[in-house]
Amino acid sequence: NSMAHELERQRAQLEHTNRLEAWAEMARQVAHDIKNPLTPIQLSAEHLLRVHRDRGEPLSPVLNRCVDTILNQVRLLRRISSEFSNFATTPTVRPEATDPTALLREIVEDYRLGLEGRVALEAAIADGLPTMHVDRLLIGRAVTNVIENALQAMPAGGTLTVSAEVEGEDVAIRVRDTGVGMDADDTARAFDPSFSTKAAGTGLGLPIAKRNVELHGGHVAVESAAGQGTTVVFRLPYGADA
Ligand code: ADP
Ligand code: MG
Repeated sequence: NSMAHELERQRAQLEHTNRLEAWAEMARQVAHDIKNPLTPIQLSAEHLLRVHRDRGEPLSPVLNRCVDTILNQVRLLRRISSEFSNFATTPTVRPEATDPTALLREIVEDYRLGLEGRVALEAAIADGLPTMHVDRLLIGRAVTNVIENALQAMPAGGTLTVSAEVEGEDVAIRVRDTGVGMDADDTARAFDPSFSTKAAGTGLGLPIAKRNVELHGGHVAVESAAGQGTTVVFRLPYGADA
């Protein structure tokens, strides 16, 4: 019985790995196929604006509005495409001695101005956290992906709390929001690259965050309750080199 159980576990693991690989391959293809047409679209739109201006803007304001929309959507597609290509290739980790307190405060403070009056921002980042050997870009991206989700979960405002403290051998980083939350089913699927509930979502924010943290020997966990909010925890060992 326990052997059947073990076989089933291995089969499920293999299926999971194969599915992730299939997703990565698809992401690579999509990133590539979306990106190529964007430059000619953008250049044409910008050219149109210039010609229009030179002729005294006869089609104003309709043309300006339409071209604005085109350029904004091009920007959005570039973001999606870069998220797909980021997910498709496993990055090389370039660890550097990093003060996590400074890194996290820098990330959080970049949001403060933009959130004023909409979302309360609470930073509880302990002083004097141990120096870590991490790739700042990868860990920074993991943290911002989770902060972005937290903010998107609070369209009507709320509180964003970012904390960091030592827990055993790890530095535990928590991003908590008081937003829409998730039920148990959605929480279980949150790290699945095919799962997104957003119109312009890629579903890749959390898988990328998880991968980046795991590349550093860390772990990711999420707790959520529908209507109450969500907490995502990164546990990163500070002793080990990545
Ligand atoms: P995306 O944000 O592009 O949809 P993610 O991987 O970042 O992809 O998130 C996947 C899904 O998990 C989201 O679409 C959302 O349904 C859910 N989710 C993630 N973070 C939160 C959060 N803080 N609060 C509520 N739902 C969340
Ligand atoms: Mg996201």
